[in-house]
Amino acid sequence: MKIFVTGAAGFIGSVVTQRLIEEGYDVLGFDNLSKGHTQAVDPKARFVEGDIRDAGLVNKTLADYRPDAVLHLAAEALIDESIKNPGIFFETNNHGGVVLLEAMRAAGCNRMIFSSTAAIYGEPKYVPIDEDHPKEPVNAYGESKIQFERVMYWYRRSFGLNHVSFRYFNACGASDKYGEARSKETHIIPLLFETALGHRKQFHLFGTDYDTPDGTCVRDYVHVIDIANAHILGLRKVDEIGERAYNIGSGNGNTNLEVIQAVREVTGMEIPTVDDARRPGDPARLVASNDRIKAELGWEPQFADIKSMVESAWAWRQRHPNGYR
Ligand code: NAD
Repeated sequence: MKIFVTGAAGFIGSVVTQRLIEEGYDVLGFDNLSKGHTQAVDPKARFVEGDIRDAGLVNKTLADYRPDAVLHLAAEALIDESIKNPGIFFETNNHGGVVLLEAMRAAGCNRMIFSSTAAIYGEPKYVPIDEDHPKEPVNAYGESKIQFERVMYWYRRSFGLNHVSFRYFNACGASDKYGEARSKETHIIPLLFETALGHRKQFHLFGTDYDTPDGTCVRDYVHVIDIANAHILGLRKVDEIGERAYNIGSGNGNTNLEVIQAVREVTGMEIPTVDDARRPGDPARLVASNDRIKAELGWEPQFADIKSMVESAWAWRQRHPNGYR
């Protein structure tokens, strides 16, 4: 099968591409390299540098490649940027997504696996959060993702698009080859590594007075290889499924202090932290119910605890102390 992967040079896209190649798929990666890195694209995949909003290039690339399915990971995905500049999120994640869907139609491809997010749910009404939880995003990032899920709903009604949306919780970890390295980092584990390595003076702990066991936020961490494996399961079943959304999360929550402790244990380094105020729109607890993906796709995470996830990320980081630079 031929798979077109957008965002292939990004953190999750690089590992998804690697796993697809390992499973024997033919892959064409596509990325504008705004956040990704060419070194992160598996050399066994073909690669086109381009923007999903560039209708001419996307149409030509799909017309030439004729993919059997599209895995759509390219996105504007940094929450704080979505507060400052919401327009670019709708332009990339919605307009760019429609450009891609139209090119798929023209190329006769009707299978899509889409990277959605837990941010579509907003402030949780209950935890664990299942897929039927109300969708009331508290930022333009989450809004753009739920809107694109709705766009695909209409493409199914009009054109029979088979599609699966995976709503990831907090992706982390690394494969043997590819890991998390952004020029502007906002994710907790890489930030802690950067602090451990002395690239940052201290780690800011946002909010220590939440109603959680130790007062810090609880998040659900899921290993990037487990996310990639979910994509392969989704790909195998997308025709049978037709249309469905699945959470991808471990089903366990870890507080920020537990993550800091895990990073201290794994790196053996003292990580200076400073207590800071809560960030607006940061809920106390975000934990996934993963019952649906386990029952319907047979997904089972290989990495169940935060320490093993941090270990794999640290092993990669030690080999790439400056990321892909
Ligand atoms: P990332 O920024 O590392 O990867 C996104 C990739 O998309 C980058 O390589 C970037 O260069 C590319 N891209 C951005 N705009 C583009 C455009 N207009 N045209 C072509 N390429 C473009 O982020 P990631 O963490 O790997 O996230 C991948 C996907 O997973 C995103 O859709 C994101 O919303 C989703 N997601 C991530 C997480 C997480 O914890 N990292 C959680 C939930 C959902």
